[in-house]
Amino acid sequence: MNPIEQNLQNVREKIATAATACGRDPHAVTLLAVSKTKPVAAIEEAIACGQRGFGENYVQEGVDKVLYFREAMPQVALQWHFIGPLQSNKSRLVAENFDWCHTVDRPKIAQRLSEQRPAAIAPLNVLLQVNISGEASKSGIAPADLPALAATVAALPHLMLRGLMAIPAPESDYARQLAVFQSMNDLFAQLKLHYPQVDTLSMGMTDDMSAAIAAGSTLVRIGTAIFGARDYPQHV
Ligand SMILES: *Cc1c(COP(=O)(O)O)cnc(C)c1O
Repeated sequence: MNPIEQNLQNVREKIATAATACGRDPHAVTLLAVSKTKPVAAIEEAIACGQRGFGENYVQEGVDKVLYFREAMPQVALQWHFIGPLQSNKSRLVAENFDWCHTVDRPKIAQRLSEQRPAAIAPLNVLLQVNISGEASKSGIAPADLPALAATVAALPHLMLRGLMAIPAPESDYARQLAVFQSMNDLFAQLKLHYPQVDTLSMGMTDDMSAAIAAGSTLVRIGTAIFGARDYPQHV
C-alpha cells in the first residue's frame, strides 16, 4: 500500500470512529482532501483510492490543477473546493473554475462571484466563513453579521448558499475545540431554519477533526494527515 492510500484509509477510519462515537452516520461526514502545495502526482494517487473532493488555497495553483485534471481525466467527476482567502481581483478565476467556495465573508465578493459565474454551468456552491474565534482570526464574518450576508448570497442567481465554514484559532484541548465547534453548529442550525438548501458545515482539520465531527461537522478538510507535512514554502 502506498503512503497516501494508507493515510486515506486511516483518516476514513478516524472519521468513522468519531462519528459512531457520537451516534452519527459516518456517511454524513464528507472528506475533503486538502491538496494545496502538493503535486498532481499526489492527487492522482488519492483519486486512484477513490477520493473525489479536493481543496485548494491558492487561486492560480488550484486553477492549474483543475484544468490539468479536466484534460487528463475528463471521465472522472472531481469536486474542487476553493478554501483560501479570496481577493476581489482573483474572484473570476474561482467563479469560472471551482465547484465550491468556502471563504465568502463579505457581500462584495459574493456579488462578484455571482456576476462572474458562467450561466452555462451549475451555480457556485458557497459557504460563509465565520470568524468564530473573534480577535484570533482575521478572516470571516462576525456571527452577528451572518443573517445579512446569508440573505445577500441566497438572493444571488449564480450562487447556491450551502452553509458555513470556520477555521478556529489553533487549540490543543479537546473540550475547548468542542466548545468552539458547537457554537458553529448553533449558527448552522439557525441558518438551516431559514434556508432549506443549507446542508454543509465545513469544519475540522488534521488536528481537530474528531471534535469537529462530535459537534456536527458535515465536511472535514484534511491535508497533512493525507498528504504529509507541507514541506515547501507556501505562496501568498
Ligand atoms: C491547509 C488547510 C487545511 C488542512 O489543514 P491540515 O492541518 O493540513 O489538515 C484545511 N482548511 C484550510 C482552510 C486550510 O488552509
